[in-house]
Amino acid sequence: WTATRVGCGEQTMSRAQKDNRRAAGSRNIKLCVVEGHANRSRPEPTQAGHEAAPLQNSRGRQTIALVAHDAKKTDLLSWSRVNLAKLQGMQIVATQSTGLLLKSELGLEPKLVNSGPLGGDQEIGALIARGELDMLIFFVDPLGVHPHASDVQSLIRIATLREIPAAYNLATADILGEKMAQARAVVA
Ligand code: PGA
Repeated sequence: WTATRVGCGEQTMSRAQKDNRRAAGSRNIKLCVVEGHANRSRPEPTQAGHEAAPLQNSRGRQTIALVAHDAKKTDLLSWSRVNLAKLQGMQIVATQSTGLLLKSELGLEPKLVNSGPLGGDQEIGALIARGELDMLIFFVDPLGVHPHASDVQSLIRIATLREIPAAYNLATADILGEKMAQARAVVA
């Protein structure tokens, strides 16, 4: 964590403040607005969370990650079926079993990373950290015990930190799906 100075200068002092300072015979110390921020050796977070995400970005097609725990794979399948046309216009990344299911059931061609328990969630987190992911649909099973619970937490954390539009259940994913539709209408 570092402190960065921004906006140093006397103009930030009012005339009365300057008079008081002179009257007190103090040295002319500049006022600075000091802002703290996390160290940023990484790229700036994307701003995709603030508006309906466009389907195109500087990398071409938007990239969406689709992940579902076993108990939620049926939900993801139904959501993907409803949003199939939009998904076909996007680049998809998925964890192994989720991705294979999307391929066999819907004919989608996701780029597969490892299965979640074998590091797939971390791989998706890395994409977010590198600014290479635009949207995350991650249907978590809150009733199950998962050996990779810490990876799940870490993926949710990085998605939150980097303002990635993300849905962790079907209800939110439906809303996000509608936003995807609006974005498509704007681009078309
Ligand atoms: P899976 O991984 O798609 O390989 O089942 C999902 C997860 O458990 O995070």
